[in-house]
Amino acid sequence: MDERAYYTESQATKPATLNCPYCRGAESYELRWMVRKKKDRLPSGADERDRAKFAKAQSYMVLLDDKVGCKNPRCRRPFDISGVKTMAFL
Ligand SMILES: [Zn+2]
Repeated sequence: MDERAYYTESQATKPATLNCPYCRGAESYELRWMVRKKKDRLPSGADERDRAKFAKAQSYMVLLDDKVGCKNPRCRRPFDISGVKTMAFL
């Protein structure tokens, strides 16, 4: 069974303050996350291995964005997101 079957997927946006490496400006950016919320019960068709893995599974979210465009109108350059955790347990 695909591990994704253990979770209900949804998308969420959360603000994060990022520093542009070009103009050094700090702005708040809405970053997109994929939220995987653990289901209350195993889907039907699960075997023993699924049961063991499901027991250890935790709800978590992963960052979808890897770049943002600088909000400074005099800069506007795209830069890589860094200094932000790209995965978090809920
Ligand atoms: Zn900038």
